[in-house]
Amino acid sequence: MFKDFPLNCTDNALENVTKIIESNKAEINNLLKLEKKTYMNFMRPLMELDSRLNDYFTPVAHLNSVCDSEKTREAFSSCLPAISIYSSEISQNKDIYNAVKEISAEEGLNQEQSKVIKDMLEMFKLGGVHLEDSKKKRLTEINTRLSELSDTFSKNLLDATNAFEIILKDDNHIKNMPESDKAAAKVQEGYRFTLQAPSYLAFMTYCSDRELREEVYKAYMTRAENNSPVIEEILKLKHEKAHILGYKNFRTMRNETMSCPSAEEALSFLEKLSKKGKPFAEKELKQLQEFAESKNISKLESYDTAYISNLLKKEKLGFDSELFRPYFEKDNVVEGLFLFLQKLFNINFQEVKGTPVWHESVKCFDLLDENNQPFARLYIDLEARAEKRGGAWMNNWHTGRTDDKGNVIHPTAFIVANFPPSTKDNPSLLRHDDVHTLFHEAGHAIHHLFSKCKEADVSGINGVEWDAVEFPSQFLENFSYEEKVLKLFARHYKTGEIIPDELINKLIENRNFQSGMFLVRQLEFGIFDLKIYDKDYSYKEVHNILKNVRKDTAVIIPPDYVIFENGFGHIFGGGYSAGYYSYKWAEMLSADAYLTFSSHGVFHKPTADKFKENILEKGGSNTMQQLFTDFMGRKPDEEKLLELMGMK
Ligand SMILES: [Zn+2]
Repeated sequence: MFKDFPLNCTDNALENVTKIIESNKAEINNLLKLEKKTYMNFMRPLMELDSRLNDYFTPVAHLNSVCDSEKTREAFSSCLPAISIYSSEISQNKDIYNAVKEISAEEGLNQEQSKVIKDMLEMFKLGGVHLEDSKKKRLTEINTRLSELSDTFSKNLLDATNAFEIILKDDNHIKNMPESDKAAAKVQEGYRFTLQAPSYLAFMTYCSDRELREEVYKAYMTRAENNSPVIEEILKLKHEKAHILGYKNFRTMRNETMSCPSAEEALSFLEKLSKKGKPFAEKELKQLQEFAESKNISKLESYDTAYISNLLKKEKLGFDSELFRPYFEKDNVVEGLFLFLQKLFNINFQEVKGTPVWHESVKCFDLLDENNQPFARLYIDLEARAEKRGGAWMNNWHTGRTDDKGNVIHPTAFIVANFPPSTKDNPSLLRHDDVHTLFHEAGHAIHHLFSKCKEADVSGINGVEWDAVEFPSQFLENFSYEEKVLKLFARHYKTGEIIPDELINKLIENRNFQSGMFLVRQLEFGIFDLKIYDKDYSYKEVHNILKNVRKDTAVIIPPDYVIFENGFGHIFGGGYSAGYYSYKWAEMLSADAYLTFSSHGVFHKPTADKFKENILEKGGSNTMQQLFTDFMGRKPDEEKLLELMGMK
């Protein structure tokens, strides 16, 4: 029913991938020769060819990120060029495009099948298959140049990040820094801090010397001046690309793959939040400013906020994240997560013993339905190891589907994190942030694993719009603050005592600490990101757009030397351009859905059934806007996000 994890998949990886690609190409040629092409005789087999490559290559990529070695690296990177050439050949194949267009007129296609066709036609359209040759050629040039530019942007940023360090001779100015951060900074000459995120954040939060804080802040906020011409060229080319493809600007083009109905609606959504959130941010700032005065800072600057906020949190709220660890022993938390999902969605988890796994600490579970029948499989790999990539993520392996022969394939996925490893004498004790992370990734996992779709391209997390992918994950995160959920599993690892109400209250109180200031900062980035595509702006104009957005949105205006945009890797070096708003959009969907649960007392079967049937089982088979409306009986409401953030 489930394939074993292929531990030897990195043997001869390139040879195997090449074989699959060659045979896929031959089969695509055969499919194209079919006289009468239908959904069932063309689309299903076409998707199955894609799955065949994916089912083989996903474990290779997975091993490369969790068991890094010469061998896995070589296996992974040697396959990438072949795979990327193959996928771009498919997306540029006019014969496939024509076939899909022909099938789109077929009568009797169901919702899932129509969505598969719609998505595929969109993919072809955005790839420019339909264009005349000269335009196609220009588009290819633009795409190549854009990927070079985004690479240059990231490299410049990385170089600038690595070019700075500050060494403190002793710990005089970092007396309150947690031991783990201090240990990470310890060098022979004293303590070394850099502009890498964890080091920079620790320094800005705990360094008590204001001048040093400003020095490091200034270094961070003036990184990569050489990215200015890169930004200008990126925006120019994106503008041209949008025009070639028939859109009035890049953000309108980008909206094709979003669930938010239009780019204008995305912008007005952020602006509405900004208007409503700003008074809360101002109030928080006032409190912070008053507190800063008691610490002899007469005017709070950007480089003071993290430090002063942390003091305020400690002195006024008495919050200490370390107090929670004893209640969050890793295996207990996993068991609790399962128990919670079992209670909510009427499913079961059964450990699969003896199946091949890539590390002794990895566990494998089957998900069982109400008749105790397995319908999905999940691997959990949570402990940090030297050869594992940092961070936490969910990776989908098999997609739940019915294949071209009519066989039902069950979905599988991996959850990976970097929690403290357990030893023989010490269990792995998590922070609440880690518990939150685990719930987040589990949200992605159930979105993929609960799928009841038959068509691979829209099953599970496939075919879900960019700005809706984080909906189920952020939705599930919320339950890690829920008393009824915490009490299921948060037990002291030594005494067995259930987590006291006082601690739960502290957690909830702290959750919305300075949420207004955090919100307006995110909105500043999101609004800026939507406003820079109207025409091909010069760098100077881009810089002024950000300044103007700040005037409306921000509560603290940073010093004049700040060139934040030169380090905005999400949109210029990564995939978030004209999509940074997605974080907030998905958060709105999740807040709205979650508050429905909590208003019904959390474990409410009718609500859970509706959520499962309308959202989790439906994957990408319809627009999230429609699925959400089916679940709630109305469109999403941004007021719910403000309510969850304590701003109502
Ligand atoms: Zn996520």
